Amino acid sequence: MLIFESDVIPVLMKQLLAILMISVFFFSCKKENTDPYALPDSYSNQTLGKSANDLLSASKFTALNIQIQYMPGYALDTQVITKIFTFLNSICNKPGGIMINQVEIPGSGDSITPIKAALLEKTYRTAYTSGSTISVYVLITDGYDTSVTTLGFAFRNTSVCLMGKNIFDHSGKPGGITRVALETSVIEHEICHLLGLVDLGSPIQTAHRDVAHGFHCTNNNCLMHFAIELHQGLGAFSTVPVLDSNCLHDLRANGGK
Ligand SMILES: [Zn+2]
Ligand SMILES: [Zn+2]
Repeated sequence: MLIFESDVIPVLMKQLLAILMISVFFFSCKKENTDPYALPDSYSNQTLGKSANDLLSASKFTALNIQIQYMPGYALDTQVITKIFTFLNSICNKPGGIMINQVEIPGSGDSITPIKAALLEKTYRTAYTSGSTISVYVLITDGYDTSVTTLGFAFRNTSVCLMGKNIFDHSGKPGGITRVALETSVIEHEICHLLGLVDLGSPIQTAHRDVAHGFHCTNNNCLMHFAIELHQGLGAFSTVPVLDSNCLHDLRANGGK
């Protein structure tokens, strides 16, 4: 079953998920596996936040592999790749190294829903968790989320989706945030949800969860403030925000550096 960050699922999608869940229930007696979204790797089919400790600590996995798949026109600039590496290397205990690679996949050219993202991941993802290496998947699409304002979302335990076109359309304007800074901010924010923030796999050490906005931080200067993943909130920042001390404390308490 897919569990997404609750605040970014449109109402229609919740209803569709409910219908699908009911359908699976009715047909489960006929087939051994009716989940059309299931990935071939059972480890990567867990719910959001379940791999927080596995990603942060070296106890089960000593290396981290990030597979980025982008639709035509939305490849990440090498500056973004370097920034993501530096960011993760400062947080995750991975003595075996952090690998990041990106490859192009065909465009879909339309709106992206969490369910579509899950199906695209199932179709194209090739890197899975194996041996001592844990893998994270980043999908960059050429469409908008159906809610229009969403720039990205995290789903499953190792999966992230970015709305490439939406990010492109809301960056690089005179006086505003650059495309490199916005892409970096959204990817780092969504990966931090996989790392368990806020209180979604990495238990909070002090009260700082913005309950009104799901699993986010109350500090509006923090990378985990809810506005980072919505272009409506872009007026609040022009450079890549960093994690505040409360969020860093949570990650360290759950095995991070
Ligand atoms: Zn978020
Ligand atoms: Zn924070």
